[in-house]
This record gives sequence, C-alpha cells and structure tokens, in this order.
Amino acid sequence: MTTMTDTLHDILGRIQGFMDDEVYPLEESTRGQDWADLVPLLEEKRERVKALGLWTPHLSEAWGGLGLTLADFGRVSEQLGRSPLAHYIFNAQAPDVGNMEILIEHGSPAQQERFLWPLLRGEIRSCFSMTEPEHAGSNPVVMSTTAVKDGSDYVLNGHKWFTTAADGAAFAVVMAVTNPEAESPYARASQILVPTDTRGFRLVRNISVMGEEGGGWASHAEVVYEDCRVPQANLLGREGAGFAIAQERLGPGRIHHCMRWIGICERAFEMMCAYAAHREVAPGKPLATRQTIQNWIAESRAEIDAARLLVLDTARQIDDAGAYASRISVSVIKFFVAGILQQVLDRAIQTHGALGMTDDTPLAYWFRHERAARIYDGPDEVHKARVARQVMKAYGVKL
Ligand SMILES: Cc1cc2nc3c(=O)[nH]c(=O)nc-3n(C[C@H](O)[C@H](O)[C@H](O)COP(=O)(O)OP(=O)(O)OC[C@H]3O[C@@H](n4cnc5c(N)ncnc54)[C@H](O)[C@@H]3O)c2cc1C
Repeated sequence: MTTMTDTLHDILGRIQGFMDDEVYPLEESTRGQDWADLVPLLEEKRERVKALGLWTPHLSEAWGGLGLTLADFGRVSEQLGRSPLAHYIFNAQAPDVGNMEILIEHGSPAQQERFLWPLLRGEIRSCFSMTEPEHAGSNPVVMSTTAVKDGSDYVLNGHKWFTTAADGAAFAVVMAVTNPEAESPYARASQILVPTDTRGFRLVRNISVMGEEGGGWASHAEVVYEDCRVPQANLLGREGAGFAIAQERLGPGRIHHCMRWIGICERAFEMMCAYAAHREVAPGKPLATRQTIQNWIAESRAEIDAARLLVLDTARQIDDAGAYASRISVSVIKFFVAGILQQVLDRAIQTHGALGMTDDTPLAYWFRHERAARIYDGPDEVHKARVARQVMKAYGVKL
C-alpha cells in the first residue's frame, strides 16, 4: 500500500469529522423517511460541505473539485460510502457524477452552461437512460429507442427502465439509435440531452425495487419517450459515439462504486465486531467468544483489505494508462468487490440476529439496496467471461 499524501490525509480527516458530527446523527434521526422530507435537511448539510471546501470532491480544481487522482478520490469515496446519505451530501452521487464527467469531456459550451454548471452547483439532478425492458441490458447494443432527425431537431421514441434518479431530475442523458446503418453495432447509438419537462418525456412509474419505490434521487424509473423533440444541439459529442462515451464513464464509475462498497463493508464490519463484543449468548460469554463469529471477523477483515488493495491498484492503473488499458482489472474488481460486499453484509446481519433484520440499523437497507451491485454496471457473469476470455488468450483459446 502506498503512503497517503499529507493533503489526502487532511481531507480524509476533515471528511471523517463531518461524518461523525453531521452525517451519522442525521442518518440515525431520519431513517425510513421519504425523500421529499429528507431534501431540506440534506440541503442544509450540502451548504455546510460547500462552506468547508469539500464540495464535488471527485472533480478537478478547475471545475470546483479537490483535484484528486482517481486513486485518492477512491479513499474519499470509501469514507462517504459509510453512510447512505454522504455521497449525495457531497454532490458526488451516481448517476450525476458520471453525467458531470461526460459533460465536462464532451459538452459544448452551451450544454455546459445549461446542464453542467447547475449540476455542479447542486441546483439540479440528472439521470442516465439506457436500459430497456425489452432487451438484455448486459448487451445494450441491441436497443429499440431511436432519435430521428426532423428539421433542426431529433425526435426520440422508446421505452426505458431503471433510469435511476429520474424522478425529479432536470434532464436525462438518453442513449438512442441515430445511425442504424453503421456497420459496427457500437457506432449506432448517440447520447442526447433531454430536459425532463420536454413534451413526450413520460415517467410511467417509480419501479418498486426490493419492496421500496424510493422517490427523487432514490428512484428507479420506467420512462417512455413519445415523439419527444429536442434540438440537434442537444447531441452530446459526436453522432454514433454513444457507446464510446458510455465506456469512458464506466471505468472510473466502477472505482467509485467499489470504494463506496468498501466503505459499506467497513461500517458493517465495525458494527458486527461491536455487537459481537457485547451481546452475551451465555452469562459472561459475548458472541465474540464463539468460533464461527471469530471466523467471520477474520475472513471479513482479510477480504475487505484484499478488495481495497485491488481497487486502489486498478485506480492507479487508470490514473497512469486510462480506463481502456485497465478494463480487465476493472472487470476483476467489479465482480470481486460486489461479492465481498454481499458476504460481509450477510455476516453482519446474521451476527445481529433479529436486530439485523430491522431498519434500526443501516444493515437491512444496504442488504436490500446493494444486492443490485452484482447486476448494474455489468452483471458478474459478463465481467467473469471478459476476464476468462483475456486469460485464455495466452493459452491459444479464443472464447
Ligand atoms: C439498482 C439498479 C440501478 C440501475 N440504474 C440504471 C441506470 O441509471 N440507467 C440505466 O440505463 N440502467 C440502469 N440499470 C440497469 C442495469 O444496467 C441492467 O440491469 C444491467 O445492465 C443488466 O441488464 P438486464 O437487467 O437487462 O439483464 P440481462 O442482460 O437480461 O441479463 C440477465 C442475467 O443474465 C445473465 N447474463 C447476462 N449476460 C450473460 C453472459 N454473457 N454470460 C452469462 N450470463 C449472462 C446475468 O446473470 C444477468 O443478471 C440499473 C439496474 C439496477 C438493478
């Protein structure tokens, strides 16, 4: 493990102080509240983060962020991952982070003025609308949503679901087929910026996921685009570059997710150990005296440390050589860390017994929400196949 710079050490210390003083108490007092009730409380915290100079920590200084490398931001993401509220409070939440990054990289000055700056200031939210219920999202090149030129506009028609955070978002980045004739299936779709108040944008429902409909930023929406007309100037980047742009956001995005999951693991681990230290299963015998629990403590410690090393190493590879060159390592961490997250959460819940099933701790919330970690941004099986394909090349086997 490389040593931390003084700057990073200072930033992490300040974030930890803010988490202790402001975020955990808020999490405790608002558990189970609707998004709408939470928003004013979160806004107050967001103003404090801005005043502390820790706002949008993932961005370069030129865009108002902390100017960290991806590996250093990974450490920040781990800290924030310890509470379900923190990434939002620091304006570093998915999917806005990814949308900020692609708007910085590919947005025209007019697009940046209208969509990016309000997003950076935290005045609006956004969503990313690619997956369609009728097609396998793990191979999104097969897509029915189209954007057809008409005069100076694009007219979009299509059906999407799992458009996270669409409820209340100001705009969607929509993947739509613009070049059906292109030889490569990867060159057929484009990304188009669609304000959600455009006629023809219809949010059908917030999908109930693991028993919760969520709302606002926590929503996963089904959306229909019906003759939805936006100016051609809303095209992001080149026509046909939709997948190339999507790919760019996925590498760093997976580092952010993995480090967030490690933050969840650390908090669940601490809760498991603290509970095992005081819950007596016989007079004078706390749970920690039982070997099964000791095994879980030791295995979880080893797995979380291994996961962190792998993710930080992958982040450094991306910092040095870019996301494309590091794509196999990115696939390794995506399924590996998602699996460890499930195991650590499961052990922490089991250790807490019935209390682990309640919403009196964040464990059950994470267990419901983070099961999806093995599915979104590429299901486990897709990443494992990619890794195996690369490995087997050396043995002359083409998979
Ligand atoms: C909580 C959550 C949030 C999401 N947020 C967004 C969002 O904001 N925007 C958006 O556009 N999408 C979003 N998605 C959608 C997500 O990207 C897709 O669910 C994912 O790509 C998988 O696609 P699918 O669900 O259609 O599964 P399918 O592609 O139908 O696959 C089903 C299952 O088949 C197996 N499988 C698939 N391919 C292979 C293979 N090659 N080899 C072996 N097995 C395979 C896997 O087990 C997979 O889980 C989100 C999903 C979830 C659950």
